[in-house]
Amino acid sequence: MLDIKTEFTTNPKNKPAVEALGFGQYFTDHMFIVEYTEGKGWHDARIIPYQPIQIDPSAMVFHYGQAVFEGLKAYKTVDGKVLLFRPDRNFARLNNSNERMVIPAIDEAFALEALKQLVTIDREWVPDAPGTSLYIRPFIIGTEANLGVHPSKSYKFIIIMSPSGSYYKEGINPVKIMVEQKYVRAVAGGTGEAKTAGNYASALKGQEIATAEGYSQTLWLDGKEKKYVEEVGSMNIFFKINGKVVTPALNGSILPGITRDSMIQVLKSKNIPVEERRITIDEVVEANKNGTLEEVFGTGTAAVISPVGELKYLDEKIIINDGKIGEVSQMLYDTLTGIQNGTIEDTFGWTIKL
Ligand SMILES: *Cc1c(COP(=O)(O)O)cnc(C)c1O
Repeated sequence: MLDIKTEFTTNPKNKPAVEALGFGQYFTDHMFIVEYTEGKGWHDARIIPYQPIQIDPSAMVFHYGQAVFEGLKAYKTVDGKVLLFRPDRNFARLNNSNERMVIPAIDEAFALEALKQLVTIDREWVPDAPGTSLYIRPFIIGTEANLGVHPSKSYKFIIIMSPSGSYYKEGINPVKIMVEQKYVRAVAGGTGEAKTAGNYASALKGQEIATAEGYSQTLWLDGKEKKYVEEVGSMNIFFKINGKVVTPALNGSILPGITRDSMIQVLKSKNIPVEERRITIDEVVEANKNGTLEEVFGTGTAAVISPVGELKYLDEKIIINDGKIGEVSQMLYDTLTGIQNGTIEDTFGWTIKL
């Protein structure tokens, strides 16, 4: 395993007040960085004070978008310990994204070790107010200074961390989501399954349209027929129809969420029927009409569980569960956050204590 050199900051920052945290605005005192050079592999791993990086304007990431990322969190438990939630899954997924984007693989065990060291150094940055956490953003970019179209011959793998506020300051408010009609996020054979920057760039247009109409996110349909439900901006989507929970099966164009996988396991452990299969938007509309659409919720690291109170499809506005959070959504939220803050025993073996 590579050696990680550490240079501590001599100028620690003031930590923002918990009320001011928000999301992704403040960064901790340190960052991790490791370089890749063709022929040499990954080298020069170090933890250094958080700082700008120097990068050539011709660096390939700026022109051809070779960029992948991850998002996970460190939590402060009620007894003051810091824990990570399934970080091994994030680095495994990062390597899947690398494979798709022709970026060299990272050593997952090494990345986890680097992350543990970084979080330990900045552990004072893990906020402890209910619902808060330290958001962790690992990412890799192609840095070769060259405008020719080919996979970059050099990369930087960086981990930065940002204390983040509670997503639900005023209690869990269901979100309003608009089903996108014109644009698509991903197609079979495309990059939908990879956590790559370009997927987000191409989704901004739909987000803009939804926002203009007073909706907070976009629900994407499949790229070919615009018939099957895929996912929400940065969340996977679940429907509870007639007592059964249904989520779109992973089909190559849906991002395989770690929260999605965790929630499927929790549902199974509680003997709540859960199906991974294709689901059409018409089935959702129909279930609403015949009164069997009981709950809709999104899952993702940032929001945990995000109940959906309204879905807009064509000219139809579907109100779900009177715009309130449903029983299963609440149970999943309580279970997951309980495991993350240490008040519920982690029988799944998902957490790593630092
Ligand atoms: C990251 C992401 C998710 C959620 O994944 P988690 O591992 O649960 O955080 C869902 N959809 C998209 C498009 C994503 O990028």
